[in-house]
Amino acid sequence: MLLKVEDLHVHRGNREILKGINLEVKENEIHAIIGPNGAGKSTLAYTIMGVSGYKPSKGRIIFKGVDITNKSITERARMGLTLAWQEPARFEGIKVKTYLTLGMNEKYKKDKETMEQKIRESLELVKLDPDKYLDRYVDETLSGGERKRVELASIICMEPDLAILDEPDSGIDIVSFDEIKRIFDYLKEKGCSLLVVTHREELAESADVVSLICNGEVIKSGDPKEVGEFYKKNCGKCYKFQRD
Ligand code: ADP
Ligand code: MG
Ligand code: MG
Repeated sequence: MLLKVEDLHVHRGNREILKGINLEVKENEIHAIIGPNGAGKSTLAYTIMGVSGYKPSKGRIIFKGVDITNKSITERARMGLTLAWQEPARFEGIKVKTYLTLGMNEKYKKDKETMEQKIRESLELVKLDPDKYLDRYVDETLSGGERKRVELASIICMEPDLAILDEPDSGIDIVSFDEIKRIFDYLKEKGCSLLVVTHREELAESADVVSLICNGEVIKSGDPKEVGEFYKKNCGKCYKFQRD
């Protein structure tokens, strides 16, 4: 098992947001997370990555057989874990090509030509013309959608063991299902696993496994169609799972 989340509890402020999450992601698996707004999906994503302020009050996170619950975000990244934010970050003064090189997998860094080729390939995959974007800055001069695409390109260059993607398909200048699917298939072929938070039904249905999170708990996990149907039928009633 690549990732094992065991009985994970997380508080924000004085509220318990995650109430005992259990989740497993296999090697080379695309695992979708669905659930209503406010269910705790982003909180789970940040906690697995080790973002500051998201320290579990209980439970464990095991990645590649190692307990990473108390490891820093940098250590987790070094182990092959990465996170693409729901709202992608801006980096003042950093060009797209520099940004893509920074996180690049060592295996593509052997010579300049290989690096450049990988960068171009990644931009083409996310439908950004390399000739137009290589020298652009990853700042507010890029739209939110363009930054989302650059972030996806950086994951393509990185080839992490596990990429956590928080709503890669949301927001303005939306990345189409076909585009996202092509990127996912590419990453899967490279041997990556993906944990994808999404509101898009067709994307969830194309995953290998889907987990439904409601009110800080995994309500159902398994076959995408089955979990999707369950969600559609029971979504309105989800809140009856609420404990308090
Ligand atoms: P999702 O991504 O599923 O929409 P989130 O993980 O972003 O949900 O948020 C889960 C819940 O945690 C929401 O109800 C949100 O309001 C709450 N929350 C997030 N941050 C804090 C905080 N700092 N203090 C209190 N509640 C918070
Ligand atoms: Mg949300
Ligand atoms: Mg969210």
